[in-house]
Amino acid sequence: MSELRELYQSVILDHNKSPRNRGELAGANRRAEGHNPLCGDHVIVMARVAGDQIEAAGFDGRGCAISTASASLMTEAVRGLSAASVKQLYEDFHQLVTTGEAREDSELGKLEVFAGVHEFPLRVKCATLCWHALRAALEGGEAVSTE
Ligand code: ZN
Repeated sequence: MSELRELYQSVILDHNKSPRNRGELAGANRRAEGHNPLCGDHVIVMARVAGDQIEAAGFDGRGCAISTASASLMTEAVRGLSAASVKQLYEDFHQLVTTGEAREDSELGKLEVFAGVHEFPLRVKCATLCWHALRAALEGGEAVSTE
């Protein structure tokens, strides 16, 4: 179990150090910002949506290691998904970070590295901030706060 935990931590540290899909997203047509005042995280999530499908997602902003790694992994995970699939994935992710357990047939994949977050309730908002922003972006909103 501790080996698994170390693997999870190394994935989070890697994505914090070298975030994927960070910076302006070419052709982005959805965008929303998220703030987590408790930690000081600020994330801007961008998506390029065609029809009901996310062709690409990106993010920018500043935050702690958990929020940055979460945004990095999320932008990889949602590429090619429909809005409905993103909603399901968000619900599965929220369950994971609040209980530490993934739903049996969830498609979280690499996102399961955040299972340990449930032990740190204040960090749950760091991990879910980018997801709140993505959902706001897809629904046509512009800003969300975890408060
Ligand atoms: Zn944070």
